[in-house]
Amino acid sequence: MEKVAIVTGAGSGIGAATAKLLAKQNMAVAVLDLNEQSAMQIAEQIEWEGGRAFALRCDVGKKEDVEQAISITEKNWDTPLVLINNAGVGGPFHRVDQVSDDEWDWIINTNLKSVFLFTRNLLPKMKEAGFGRIVNVASIQGLLGSAHSSTYVASKHGMIGYTKTIAAEWGRYGITCNAICPGYVNSQLGIRPEDISDYYQRVMDKSPVQRVADPIEVASLIAHLVGEFGGYINGASYTIDGGISAHVGITSNLTE
Ligand code: NAD
Repeated sequence: MEKVAIVTGAGSGIGAATAKLLAKQNMAVAVLDLNEQSAMQIAEQIEWEGGRAFALRCDVGKKEDVEQAISITEKNWDTPLVLINNAGVGGPFHRVDQVSDDEWDWIINTNLKSVFLFTRNLLPKMKEAGFGRIVNVASIQGLLGSAHSSTYVASKHGMIGYTKTIAAEWGRYGITCNAICPGYVNSQLGIRPEDISDYYQRVMDKSPVQRVADPIEVASLIAHLVGEFGGYINGASYTIDGGISAHVGITSNLTE
């Protein structure tokens, strides 16, 4: 039977690539994004390619929006048993003493509280169905500190701890929950190789593979985790960063 999936932040980047890939894997996909127009474009593309999708505007940090999105998805199709918590914001780069209350709340609500809101609602329904697949899109900044990104780092570390706990609590009901930790991805939030900058050059100097990821490379890891052969992977956090976090990177640079 066709499974119903929710992908958040699916209007662009990793989320859009994931929504398209899951639709190709015979899932009906609710394409959620704060930006309704981009969500609609992705849903239309999926339908045009023969898949099933619909778009919804949803601010994932807001309880009412999350509850409404789940309820519309259930009414349109069925209980979503696949959940990709992907929507995320980076925020400005600055030191902790320059972070405002509003900025902290915005990043934590979007990146972390959203995961709680979706899972609190859907886990009991997944339990009833005896099946659930959840992937939380964290970051290598969920594994390592990063100067001038304290709130983002805190949100992504929180996601990984939360992922492990959900895995422990709900695994017995046929539900798996995993996190993925991308490095640098060619997206709005990530790095566009065409915008050659000092920052891009520093990333290249640290990256063993000397490039950023294409969103489809990250989407295919997500698709594996929620796909036919992903069922024994639970509570894991997969880095997908071209090897950036695998080395210290100060003893030598990576050029010959
Ligand atoms: P992106 O900016 O292309 O996509 C993020 C999407 O989330 C956008 O469509 C945006 O409209 C949506 N969004 C933002 N706030 C939202 C909200 N409150 N409610 C609903 N949707 C909202 O960026 P991306 O790179 O595809 O990012 C996807 C995820 O990957 C994020 O969680 C990000 O932290 C993570 N990530 C990205 C990178 C990278 O280099 N791009 C690296 C590590 C982790």
